Amino acid sequence: MKEKYYDILVIGGGAAGMAAALAASEAGAKVLLAEHASLPGGVLNRCIHHGFGLGYFGEDLTGQQYAARFRDRLAHSPVDVMTDTSVLRLFPDRTAFLSRSGSLQKIAFRQCILATGSYERTMESIPVPGTRPAGIFTAGCAQGLINESHMDIGERILILGSGNVGQIMARQLVQAGKTIVAMIEQNDRPGGLPRNHRECLEAYSIPLMLHSTITRILGEERICGAVVRNLDTGQEQTFSCDTLITALGLIPDRSLADSLAVGGTWPDWLQLCGNCESIHDIVDSVTLAGERAGKAAIKGEI
Ligand SMILES: Cc1cc2nc3c(=O)[nH]c(=O)nc-3n(C[C@H](O)[C@H](O)[C@H](O)COP(=O)(O)OP(=O)(O)OC[C@H]3O[C@@H](n4cnc5c(N)ncnc54)[C@H](O)[C@@H]3O)c2cc1C
Repeated sequence: MKEKYYDILVIGGGAAGMAAALAASEAGAKVLLAEHASLPGGVLNRCIHHGFGLGYFGEDLTGQQYAARFRDRLAHSPVDVMTDTSVLRLFPDRTAFLSRSGSLQKIAFRQCILATGSYERTMESIPVPGTRPAGIFTAGCAQGLINESHMDIGERILILGSGNVGQIMARQLVQAGKTIVAMIEQNDRPGGLPRNHRECLEAYSIPLMLHSTITRILGEERICGAVVRNLDTGQEQTFSCDTLITALGLIPDRSLADSLAVGGTWPDWLQLCGNCESIHDIVDSVTLAGERAGKAAIKGEI
């Protein structure tokens, strides 16, 4: 298989990958940005709420607007952007297999920047008895279905977990006329940024149950309720709902790097940035991390 050569391969076209690709290209490198989806932007493309770019642009943008600014910069740059493209595997000889429209391509590179983001912890990661009927979504999945696919996910919604993604979804659903039956959190305070607590939970009077967790899912074909236990008193309460959203946290996606690790360390030609390195609450810091990675890669410092 004939392989194409790039100075820098950037894997993942979210906020981190777009910034890394642009920074490396502006410093003179020949850069390939490979993105699994058909539109670069990553989680930003699902975010129709404001609160992005306050630091980086000094403006209050939606996630979609923030992503569009970087796509525009990419369109005016020499970066080769391959969308609908998944990087399947990295090899120690600095090559990678890419899959696009069912065909395989081999790429050779000098440095690689991994910007593959994160994945969500699902209901399967916690031991809750009961059925697994339709109507259970992770917060990110619900956000994508509503904001990108314009689908309706349900009317009476229970949310398990109170991180940023869960709080933002709770606000959006109330604004859309849905009922948030309760938000259930096992800790003694809600997770996420204080600004989301104020602007999403308090401002919309979302009922928050602390020191609590779900102990049983009810329903056969579609979820019809859940049993919630107070972890202090052991008292249980049954809530009726037609939808359960889980907001149980994000896990860095380092699977491509892990397959290369020897003795727990990665090769010196591979650098991680953005949420695949560590989870960031604010996109501005992801962009800055991406820019640092792009500049370091061109200097061969990684
Ligand atoms: C619901 C939500 C609300 C948020 N609200 C705010 C806010 O109000 N203000 C703020 O500043 N920040 C906010 N953030 C945080 C910020 O948006 C994220 O931290 C940031 O966008 C993450 O960028 P990333 O590039 O690291 O990851 P991602 O956006 O996840 O990008 C990773 C990309 O890699 C691609 N990819 C993965 N594997 C492969 C592969 N093998 N081959 C090719 N491509 C691959 C994926 O398709 C994806 O596009 C929010 C985040 C979420 C989820």
